Amino acid sequence: MNNVILNNLFEKKVELQQRVDAIEADFKKGRSADFSEQTTENENNEVLNEIHHEAKLELGLINHAIARFENDEYGICSQCTEAINPDRLKVLPYIDTCINCAK
Ligand SMILES: [Zn+2]
Repeated sequence: MNNVILNNLFEKKVELQQRVDAIEADFKKGRSADFSEQTTENENNEVLNEIHHEAKLELGLINHAIARFENDEYGICSQCTEAINPDRLKVLPYIDTCINCAK
């Protein structure tokens, strides 16, 4: 079961990294001289910024979860060291606290 989770984490990581790379490549493309196009570009950039920001945040959580896997800490509550309910992990694969400590 743990390998399945780890595979999922890696798959998700690759997917997010590609998204981040694509957005960063788009940022680098530069801007057009046309003013009306610039307005559209600014709006797009705002949306892109948000997606970029969220993808980066999620990447950080995934990296953290993968590191926990490598240290045999995945699925263990970081606060009380009890095992985290597997159903909770299924819904929140990056979580590192049990339901009691998350409150
Ligand atoms: Zn706990």
